[in-house]
Amino acid sequence: MGLNHVLVLPFPAQGHVNPLMHLSHKLVQHGCKVIFVNTEFNHKRVLSAMNGKVTLDGSEVELVSIADGLGPEDDRSDMAALISSMVRTMPSDLEMLIRDINSRDGGSNRITGMVCDTYMAWALEIAQKLAIKGAIIIPSSSAMLALEDNIPKLIEDGIMDSDGFPIKKGKFQLSPKMPNMNITDMPWSCFSDASSQKTIFHYLARSIQWSHLTDWWISNTTIELEPGALSLCPKILPIGPIKESPKFRSLGQFWQEDHSCLSWLDQQPPCSVIYVAFGSFTIFDPNQFKELALGLELTNRPFLWVVRDDSNGSVTKHKYPNEFQGTKGKIVKWTPQPMVLKHPSIACFLSHCGWNSTMDGVSNGVPFLCWPYFADQFVDKAYICDFWKVGLGFEEDEKGIISRWEIKKKVEQLLGDEEIKGRSKKMKDMIMNNIAKDGKSTQNFNKFMKWLNE
Ligand code: UDP
Repeated sequence: MGLNHVLVLPFPAQGHVNPLMHLSHKLVQHGCKVIFVNTEFNHKRVLSAMNGKVTLDGSEVELVSIADGLGPEDDRSDMAALISSMVRTMPSDLEMLIRDINSRDGGSNRITGMVCDTYMAWALEIAQKLAIKGAIIIPSSSAMLALEDNIPKLIEDGIMDSDGFPIKKGKFQLSPKMPNMNITDMPWSCFSDASSQKTIFHYLARSIQWSHLTDWWISNTTIELEPGALSLCPKILPIGPIKESPKFRSLGQFWQEDHSCLSWLDQQPPCSVIYVAFGSFTIFDPNQFKELALGLELTNRPFLWVVRDDSNGSVTKHKYPNEFQGTKGKIVKWTPQPMVLKHPSIACFLSHCGWNSTMDGVSNGVPFLCWPYFADQFVDKAYICDFWKVGLGFEEDEKGIISRWEIKKKVEQLLGDEEIKGRSKKMKDMIMNNIAKDGKSTQNFNKFMKWLNE
């Protein structure tokens, strides 16, 4: 039998491309050949972030692309427009790509399996049509998938209407072992206007229906992290944490990694640095940005702060306040985050709580200061602060701002809390046991590989 040739299809966003790339490396280590399909737009970003440092020929993961259907100047942060365009054009392009690969080299290189992001689950229809084994991977928490799988019930219970808009205000719980969810913080309700919210809600609801075309739902989580969500959705197979493999260079970053932060970390005392990063989407209001800068300064501790060029929503740069010296800190545009969080100088992670960042932090035993911005990040924060108890949140002042004094207070409170630090270390060991030789996630992944290879 020839090599298993697996097509991996991420949703076009950084927090989806990264975990699917790490999964691809895992597949390669298990003897598969992987073809990784980005949108053309993101493919170009990835290549440019690598600065020509990689040859695509002969690498273990072949990077290819198909168009997302939008024009070159269109705004890809308009999620509703992006989704509508993708569903219109990508399925036929993907089918053509697969047919083309299958016809190369006399058919000896046929695609035998497909792992697609749950938010690209329409691709399972193509997998079925072409008789390819299909699976989905969940790049967010399994609680999110459980939520989406329960949309019909939430409508029936009168919590939301059939377009996803809240009927009752307040919180609800999908199961007693899961965090409370706020009906106004649904993954679709954070978008700017009602029409976008409706489009995204229906896309997510449809995506879960497509996801049911397969029985294989693998997830970057573990049984200890999400017992409630996993028992509510027994179909989910936890294979996490899906760690970046040190053997492979990341081929998924949209921004160039600044490795100078690692040598800077080498020069800091152990367990001293506040790592501050808000993922790939978060946009800061200028006042809040200023308070954050002054708050970090006020802690009088070393900090490593990721400020993306586009973190104020435009190309004009954020203005640092005049009083801000930043002498104790290092500011970079993008880090190799998993390597940063593994570094012994890191004391805590001030994070927006995206699921990948959450997994990066908990699997390295780093305690959190939680600053969620939108969508699933509020549920991730609830896991961190209320369920796993490995972090603290912030209180806003009367103007809705997290003040510099609140930041200083919470940094001191967290770093003085031996129980939180102890729990974080214990949690790391517990989670990492899952990917030890006989760990549960390893067994689950082997089961998945067995099915893929059959
Ligand atoms: N990340 C990184 N460098 C940074 C900031 C983030 O490599 O400076 C990576 C991080 O490891 C994760 C992804 O970017 O894989 C962000 O995903 P997450 O789910 O945390 O947040 P999102 O960007 O989707 O809001």
